[in-house]
Amino acid sequence: MIFDIVINKGTIIEPKTEIQTVGNIGIKDGKIELVSREQLEGNTVIEAGNKVVCPGFVDIHSHLSFPLYPAWLSVKQGITTCLSGNCGLTSMMPVKGYLDQMEERGYPINFATLAGHSWTFREMVGIQDPHAAASPEQIAEMVKIAEQALEEGAIGISFGLEYAPGATAAETLPLAAVAAKYNKLVAIHTRKDSLDFANGLYEAIELSEKTGARVQISHLAYQFGVHSEVVAMALCMIDHAIERKIPILCDSGIYEAFATFVKSAVFDDGWHERYGCRISDLMISTGKYVGQRATQEIIDYIKINEEGTVGTAFVGVLPDLAMALKRPYTMISTDAGLSDKPGNGHPQDAGTFPRVFQRLVREQGALTMMEAVIKSSYLPAKQMGIAETKGWIGAGADADLVIFDPTTIRDNADYVGIGQPDAEPTGIEYVIVNGVTVVAEGKAIEDTLPGKILRQKNKVWSL
Ligand SMILES: [Zn+2]
Repeated sequence: MIFDIVINKGTIIEPKTEIQTVGNIGIKDGKIELVSREQLEGNTVIEAGNKVVCPGFVDIHSHLSFPLYPAWLSVKQGITTCLSGNCGLTSMMPVKGYLDQMEERGYPINFATLAGHSWTFREMVGIQDPHAAASPEQIAEMVKIAEQALEEGAIGISFGLEYAPGATAAETLPLAAVAAKYNKLVAIHTRKDSLDFANGLYEAIELSEKTGARVQISHLAYQFGVHSEVVAMALCMIDHAIERKIPILCDSGIYEAFATFVKSAVFDDGWHERYGCRISDLMISTGKYVGQRATQEIIDYIKINEEGTVGTAFVGVLPDLAMALKRPYTMISTDAGLSDKPGNGHPQDAGTFPRVFQRLVREQGALTMMEAVIKSSYLPAKQMGIAETKGWIGAGADADLVIFDPTTIRDNADYVGIGQPDAEPTGIEYVIVNGVTVVAEGKAIEDTLPGKILRQKNKVWSL
């Protein structure tokens, strides 16, 4: 047989069986057809000697949508599948129309979405004030919207409870119950972070405990990374919940500064006191004031005049995040997608996965290569319910692959005002999506859009 692509003599890191071996991979019609030590023949042959060949990264916490610029930043860091719609924010509703449009236009990587409660559902039922509680009628309407979104292929429901302080358990429980009914994911950006974290984390654990929903705690570094003590206490709570068999996983990046909309409730009056930082620790990352440190006047101006402006808050002290990322339930994620054009945004959009392999695997030895690959591919694929064909290497798997140099892989992006937020990483040599090469010899091939739009089938849960 002549394969479309052959990858020769790579160090294959296979996260499902946890086998590391040197071998050859034959790709045909978008699938991995054969993994073998025999010589294989292909129309294209990639010599991968001394390089790591692993499943393409599955980014379970993303905010990607139609714009191709941030999507290509994801591709260049080795991501082949993303889950968008996190933190309670879906780009467009209804889900069917959204996914149809994405499919029609084409996308470089495989794309799936959650349906977001805290911005999207609330706006759809006419709640303008994030501090307002929903009426019973509005809650009933949100449940219907959620059910329809799941029926139309959403992977689950997301909450951004910090952005909707008015949402109570009366609102969140029935929505989590809908996700549980279909055995779909509930991703939660917790209501409280920093030193006030415990109530918010407990609320997330309780949502799972009361409904049976599979819960994912979002961007752990940003919620609990402000103090080493907070990270340790949060992990303790999660460990304890898992001991009680509550189905909880976490996702996290490894940057110390988080990015979000300046207009959001996160930056309500007194925010900097809550984090124990200064107002100037907020760097404006898009819009008119891009690259400037915030003042109260700038924040007031943006809250009134600039809906979509993103700020990056330097609240972290870079505590021992390796402690969080070493937990077997923590997956690597970017939180990417808020960069709207070159030179804007947050370095996580361009550098997260290479930074993990550089810092935690090569430099600190905090994770083994196998552990890092599991957290970047198979574990998130399982959590998304797509692991039948994604997140592993073997005959029958989708040909989503990344080839990188473990001795040079690194993140080159830095914060606006400090460096270049969209600088390409080093060491990502090939990225293949559904059998189509989108990065070759370290260069993106931006005229190809081989990604598939993933719509999750529905089955009411039963034992
Ligand atoms: Zn979030």
